[in-house]
Amino acid sequence: MKLWVLGSGSNGNAVLVECDGSRILIDCGFGTRTLAGRLKAISVAPQSIDACIITHDHSDHVKGAKGASKKWGWPLFATHGTARAAELTGAKVHRFQPGMTIEFPRITVQSTPTPHDAHESVGFVVTGRSTGARAGLFYDVGHVTRAMAKACESLDILVLESNHDEDMLRNGPYPRWLQARIACATGHLSNRDSGIFARQAMTKECNHLVLAHLSEINNTPRVAMASMRSALTGSRFKGTLTPAKQDAVVGPFTPGKTRAEKPLQYALF
Ligand SMILES: [Zn+2]
Ligand SMILES: [Zn+2]
Repeated sequence: MKLWVLGSGSNGNAVLVECDGSRILIDCGFGTRTLAGRLKAISVAPQSIDACIITHDHSDHVKGAKGASKKWGWPLFATHGTARAAELTGAKVHRFQPGMTIEFPRITVQSTPTPHDAHESVGFVVTGRSTGARAGLFYDVGHVTRAMAKACESLDILVLESNHDEDMLRNGPYPRWLQARIACATGHLSNRDSGIFARQAMTKECNHLVLAHLSEINNTPRVAMASMRSALTGSRFKGTLTPAKQDAVVGPFTPGKTRAEKPLQYALF
């Protein structure tokens, strides 16, 4: 498994996961020209992507999906609510219920409902079938739910929202109503809440923690990283910590060691 964050933040999000030559894109919040540029940087042809799966209907996650699907023939996967709200229609749109697992030949994508002010938003755990490697992607989450914590057990890679510093948001330029919306239980995860969750979720097997969806107004990579480092002090996590970027690709992130699926047992006579 290899994972790249092609860009993350309120101006656009996209994450590429590759397993055994199969490629899926999580979210398509960039136009085709920008996305083609990001993929070119890692020598990936857009036509080689097998499917695009959308977390929710906000434009920073979905605005390029229709154009990319048309241009490069990608099938799109979205919850009923996301498909409806983002007006994704046509034969190439596959709808699923939040919580459902989508099976591809070499990759499994398990969806988990997330608390966010969108229509049936979800996060994902992507599993490589041949190795059992697991990558979790959870951003645009107002708070951590039990289902999300359960989904994040024994991950190899976690891409986790660390949206804002609570003081910077409170003292920043956003109007009160917008501050309240970001900080509420269906808004975005603060550095502090991200740290509390990561401390509990990160095991010593987890190889990479990537901080995603950092606000460019109410956060900085330095502040988010310092907050997470302090939260993880004395924890079991021994992997790397990396901030995702809005305007650049980071990765590839790979599992530490492959955990092969248990072989089938045959009775010997
Ligand atoms: Zn977003
Ligand atoms: Zn959102």
